Amino acid sequence: MDDGLAELTCGQMLYGPSYAFPNDTTPIATPAGFSPGVIPSLQVSPTFHSSLDTGSGPPDIRFVAADNVFFFAHVSLLLSRSENSFNALIPHDAFQRANLFAIAVPELSNVFTIVLHTIYGWSCTGLHPSTDDLSAALTALEVYGVPASTCLAPNSPLHALVLAHAALRPLEVFALAAEHGVEPLAVAVSSKLVGRTVPSIPEPLLERIGARYLLRLARLQLSLMDRLRELVLNPPQPHLPAATCGFSEQRTLIGTWALASARLSWHAKPDLSASTIQAVFNDVEGDLRCTLCKDAWRSRVRQILYQWTLAKRTI
Ligand SMILES: [Zn+2]
Repeated sequence: MDDGLAELTCGQMLYGPSYAFPNDTTPIATPAGFSPGVIPSLQVSPTFHSSLDTGSGPPDIRFVAADNVFFFAHVSLLLSRSENSFNALIPHDAFQRANLFAIAVPELSNVFTIVLHTIYGWSCTGLHPSTDDLSAALTALEVYGVPASTCLAPNSPLHALVLAHAALRPLEVFALAAEHGVEPLAVAVSSKLVGRTVPSIPEPLLERIGARYLLRLARLQLSLMDRLRELVLNPPQPHLPAATCGFSEQRTLIGTWALASARLSWHAKPDLSASTIQAVFNDVEGDLRCTLCKDAWRSRVRQILYQWTLAKRTI
C-alpha cells in the first residue's frame, strides 16, 4: 500500500503503479478510523474492483472514498456520462497516463457506490440503500456532471428504486424529486401526499421541496376538496310520482341527502376513502321508506364513488 494515501485530500490525485488489490472483496460498510500518522486500512469495493470487466478493457482510474474504500472504474465511461469531466477531477490527458491514478472523493463508500452503479447503468437494488444515501448520491451525481433528471429518467433502474422508497417515505422522495427538478418522479410520488397538509411537513423538508412544488401540492388538495364537494352536493334524481311517493313526498329524499352531506363534511379531506363515503350514506339511507327513493339514492352513491376514484390525484 502507498503510505502517502494518509495525506490524500479530496480531489487530489495519487499516481502510482497498478496495485494488486484482491478480487475477493472486503465488506465496505465499516468506516476506517483515520488518525494522523496512522496508515488507514484500505478496502476494495465488491463491485468496482481491479478486475472489473465491462468489455472495454481493465479499469484505468481509481477513487478513494472518505472511508478509505477503493473503487476501480473506466475513464472513458465516466467522461461519456459526465458533463464536467467528473467535476474536473479527471484530467484531459487521463487516457495518456501510463500509471493508474487515484482520486479522493468526499463521499462515503455506501454513497459513492450508488454514484458509480448509476453511471454504469446498473441497478442498486441489491445494495439496499437508505433514502438518505440515495439522496446524497443524487447530489453527488449532480456535482460530477450527471444530471439527476438523467439518472432518474422513467424506466431507469434508479427511478424504480427511488419510487419503491416512496411507499414508506413519500415526503423524503418528493423532496428529493423536487430539489433536483425531476418532474416525472415528483408527479408519481405526489399521489401519496394528497392527505398531507403543508403545516404538517417538517421545516427541513419544506425547504427542500420548495415553493413551486408545495404550491402544486396545495392546489391538488384544494381541487380534490372542490371535486368532493361538487359530487356530494349533487342529490339523486327524483323518481316518477308513484301512489305512495309523489313529488312532495320526495322532499324527504332531498332532505335526507342534505343530512348525509352535512355528516360527510365532518370527514371531508383530500384523501377521503370511498369506504368512508359509502358508510356515511349507508348510515343515513335507513331514514328512507320508499323503495324507489332508495334505488335513486343508491344509484347516486355508486356514481359518486366511481367518480371520486377517477379524480386526478397527482400534481
Ligand atoms: Zn320515493
